[in-house]
Amino acid sequence: MSIHILEHPLASHFVTHLRDENTKPSLFRSLCKRVTTLLAIEASRNLNTAPKDIKTPLENMTGSVISETLIAVPVLRAGLGMLDPIVEMFPDVSVGYIGLARDEETAIATSYYAKLPPNLAGLTAFILDPMLATGGSAAHAVSLIADAGVTTIKMLCIVAAPEGVQYLQSIYPTLDIYIAALDRELNEKKYILPGLGDFGDRLYGT
Ligand code: URA
Repeated sequence: MSIHILEHPLASHFVTHLRDENTKPSLFRSLCKRVTTLLAIEASRNLNTAPKDIKTPLENMTGSVISETLIAVPVLRAGLGMLDPIVEMFPDVSVGYIGLARDEETAIATSYYAKLPPNLAGLTAFILDPMLATGGSAAHAVSLIADAGVTTIKMLCIVAAPEGVQYLQSIYPTLDIYIAALDRELNEKKYILPGLGDFGDRLYGT
């Protein structure tokens, strides 16, 4: 597995404002989209491309375009906040949804919804899950998508805990994880420290 941590002043700037408890949901949603854009740029670095002949206003040239079919799978509900910039950047992307609810006492994720597009064999998937805490829900999402035949899975997270990264690494050694910030640890309730609180609550003002 490769861990790709965004080391960019813009990423730190956006994540710092996301963390700030005074950041209101409208700004939070906008910052979430900006960080996701940076993650998507990094995660698409090695996508396959194909040559494309075009004509500029001045002359003919051969450019290059992404030649892979992508799928994006937001993990409900927090992952929904990351979907818009992905659809904006990859207009042909197919979108699947996975609903995982975290038990507040045990922090164990259970699946309440899964709807993936058909015929996923050989495709590349971006899983959108902003908080990689214990790694339990991420592992669940990866297994559902891998079972559907997806060959390349990239996990896009905004904040991750070392515990979650290590857990995923132990069961999916070839998975690529893209993270905007790697935090210190989980607390006893399995929230990430310093973290930003409950991402879904911050996103939707609940
Ligand atoms: N999910 C969140 O929204 N926040 C955390 O800190 C951990 C999991």
